[in-house]
Amino acid sequence: MRQAPAAPRDRYAGLADRRLAAILAAEDTAEEYGLSPHTRSTCYVHRCWVHECVGDPLHVLVVTGHRWCRGCERPVEVAVDVTPPGAVHVFCPGCGQAGSAANREVRQACRTSLAAMHGGAAPALYRLPEA
Ligand SMILES: [Zn+2]
Ligand SMILES: [Zn+2]
Repeated sequence: MRQAPAAPRDRYAGLADRRLAAILAAEDTAEEYGLSPHTRSTCYVHRCWVHECVGDPLHVLVVTGHRWCRGCERPVEVAVDVTPPGAVHVFCPGCGQAGSAANREVRQACRTSLAAMHGGAAPALYRLPEA
């Protein structure tokens, strides 16, 4: 990844977790270069790991089908077990399914996020800056 120009403002200056802040900033830059926002391990809006805020209504994207069941036309739930090694379950309370490509992407992003939070050798799409 290219070195980003110095940010005009540090959006994440107030975050106590500097490793998280570094990854947030790196993913913001990566997005500008084509990283899909749906594969991020951090959340631009909530400034946290994506598995921590994926339950927020803001993460229900009806248009793209992320956290949304088209069959039932209702949001799907995400259950996250943060105990290492961690587990993520995405399911629709209506039909029990959530097998769309978009919802698989949600699950994968949360798994990547969990692994990154634990600092493990996560299969990341990019190099994580050492904090
Ligand atoms: Zn969020
Ligand atoms: Zn459903």
